[in-house]
Amino acid sequence: MSDINKSRRVFLRTAALGVAAVPLARFATHSPAAQAAKPKAEDGHALNYVNDASTTDHARHKEGNKCSNCVFWAGEESGGWGSCRHPQFADVLVNQNGWCNSYAPAG
Ligand code: SF4
Repeated sequence: MSDINKSRRVFLRTAALGVAAVPLARFATHSPAAQAAKPKAEDGHALNYVNDASTTDHARHKEGNKCSNCVFWAGEESGGWGSCRHPQFADVLVNQNGWCNSYAPAG
């Protein structure tokens, strides 16, 4: 086999692997495992957020309102923590018993 054919073969193999890796990399950043790596929100993260809705004395809070029954709640991922679809909480997990002043009832 000539050197040109050998080089061409190596190039084509490398290109094929690169193309195959693109969808896998995309999957890795959107997988539950990657999302679970987000830090947990702390009280005061944004919008008067608290991890325990029963501790807030905010005027907008009503008994029973909490993240797990909010329209922005995206579901539990682990141990009572999950994602919130509100942009202010895109990089953190919120607690299912948490609350913020953007709360809106689901359903
Ligand atoms: Fe919780 Fe606020 Fe997100 Fe609703 S918008 S899930 S209350 S952090």
